[in-house]
Amino acid sequence: MTKLIAGNWKMNCHVESGTALARGLADKANQSSKSADVAVCPPAPLIPLIIEATKNSPVSVGGQDCHWEDSGAHTGDVSASLLADLGCTYAIVGHSERRADHGETDAQVKAKTEAALAAGLIAIVCVGETEAQRDAGDAETVVGGQIEGSLPAGGTPDTVVIAYEPVWAIGTGRTPSLDDIAAIHGFIREKALASHGLGDGLRILYGGSVKPSNAAEILAIEDVGGALVGGASLTVENFWGIIESCP
Ligand code: PEP
Repeated sequence: MTKLIAGNWKMNCHVESGTALARGLADKANQSSKSADVAVCPPAPLIPLIIEATKNSPVSVGGQDCHWEDSGAHTGDVSASLLADLGCTYAIVGHSERRADHGETDAQVKAKTEAALAAGLIAIVCVGETEAQRDAGDAETVVGGQIEGSLPAGGTPDTVVIAYEPVWAIGTGRTPSLDDIAAIHGFIREKALASHGLGDGLRILYGGSVKPSNAAEILAIEDVGGALVGGASLTVENFWGIIESCP
């Protein structure tokens, strides 16, 4: 299964810096023989510029979120069909920062995933436990519940990607042990996704403080289908270093 390395720029980059980053990645990708799917998810207003900067390269572009409605009175939101119209391939949905900052529920994430699929996008559905939940031994219950509540019927390995991102590892420099990553990815594939009939072939990304120095060992784990990368996606050197670490 080809790994997917997706960069989540979050609320970073402006016109000049975002364009330069995208052009740098497009150049690297055009010169590389590495077989990995590469995507960047810039802030929504930058999407047309980043699509332009990465055209004629294998770098794909995604939105960081989408609304569940196709249009209407939803100030500040972006529809999945507009993302698709602009040329996006992916939409991240249910990132823990949106679940925390905007109170997004599993039901809303499910509706967003449905909207992404209806628009022809690949949905990157984020799940992950807090540190307190892991310490209480509840990581699998939490992640299993999020998958149950956030995945609509009708997704396939070609249209849905899961990103397992322990909340306590995002932006902290901390990561779970390799054994813990392997265990929860195995749980997601064999239990949580299997009950949706999706266990085989669906990519499960790991996200949370992935950087060039730890990417190779994380990406070598069976069941880790790639990485969702925040901070380290903001320089060509770091992001490309992660891509180069794909086995
Ligand atoms: C993220 O926010 O999706 C993420 C994984 O961030 P970081 O790589 O900075 O931990």
